[in-house]
Amino acid sequence: MTIDYDPESRRNLKLKDLNYPDYAWLTYCVCDEGCHWEGWILEDARFSGKTVSLDKSQLCPECRKMLFRTEASVHYVPTDTPSE
Ligand SMILES: [Zn+2]
Repeated sequence: MTIDYDPESRRNLKLKDLNYPDYAWLTYCVCDEGCHWEGWILEDARFSGKTVSLDKSQLCPECRKMLFRTEASVHYVPTDTPSE
């Protein structure tokens, strides 16, 4: 079975072509058992009536070990129809 995948059309996706979260939480994480990377990850995202694909693995982007989630979290809400 061949999967019909058109890289050109996928690279030209616009925001209007996608479902996106109504809001999201970002959490500051540290890779204290691996490479000591630290930064913001997507902790959670909520949406109503839409299917949204998210990476919620909470793995270090550098060494793929489990990140430690600090208490520092921020809540983001889209302010308007985002520009493209
Ligand atoms: Zn790491």
